[in-house]
Amino acid sequence: MPNKIREEIKRLKDERGAIILAHSYQPGVIQDVADFVGDSLELSRIAAKEAAELVVFCGVKFMAETAKLLSPESIVVLAAPRADCSLAACMSGEDLRKMKKKYPGASSVMYVNSTLDLKAETWSCCTSANSVEVVNAAPSNEVIFGPDRNLGTWVAEQTDKKLHIWPGGCHAHSGADIRDLRDKKAEWPDAEILVHPESPSVFLWEADEVLGTGGMIRHIRNSQGKRFIIGTEEGMLYRLQTLFPEKEFVAAGIIICDDMQMTTLEDILKALESDDPGIQIPVELAERASEAVRRMTEIGK
Ligand code: SF4
Repeated sequence: MPNKIREEIKRLKDERGAIILAHSYQPGVIQDVADFVGDSLELSRIAAKEAAELVVFCGVKFMAETAKLLSPESIVVLAAPRADCSLAACMSGEDLRKMKKKYPGASSVMYVNSTLDLKAETWSCCTSANSVEVVNAAPSNEVIFGPDRNLGTWVAEQTDKKLHIWPGGCHAHSGADIRDLRDKKAEWPDAEILVHPESPSVFLWEADEVLGTGGMIRHIRNSQGKRFIIGTEEGMLYRLQTLFPEKEFVAAGIIICDDMQMTTLEDILKALESDDPGIQIPVELAERASEAVRRMTEIGK
């Protein structure tokens, strides 16, 4: 049966001029049928470049929205329509408006893992890879940063700007237990420890490198190391093992995002079969949110 679904996905994809994009945290079976696997920014850029008639996005809501902002002519369908992000949900545009009143004169930088109304309200978005550069480029010495406090704390340590950090977090990364990482270190003393900046600070202190998912791949490609302890969502291990079969990877702890694991092959098939108009961006948000995302793509990595 799974093979039959894969064949049908391929047939419909070709028939409809569609591309399938999968985030690196997606289940292995989804990564295997995708045309491109990557982080949210890489995938949005690919969506814009490919200009496919239909983009089936395997990830969570804010990612499909970002892809739609960068490729408004394409139909962008989120394969698992209920897949959302606990981090994006923890700060709204209204929250940012209140912070702007509290810190007049401060500009704002919001992680791309955010809702559309928050994107529309901020000066710029950032990724984990270019967060420090975007903050440094902000047109004020004080910067409101959100929604992730762990990423914000990490950025604050690397900039001279004064950050006002929203206390939000990703439930998957924030729930990681440092004792698991220490156990892995004891088992694999020769391994390099790579940790995503959404993880709690105590994880970052024990890491050899703090990197987003794209940065992890680039680092491993250039590293002589053979074993790596990975501190991010567990779907990433499948991605790394596929790219680097000669190296070994182990999770730093239990970091599982239920929303990221929600997509099924049946969802992809349904998205290809239906006449779903896809992600719709309200006109009152489109221009301002696109501007914040565009700025993010132009600064740094
Ligand atoms: S892993 Fe965390 S930040 Fe990423 S989609 Fe899931 S809840 Fe959001």
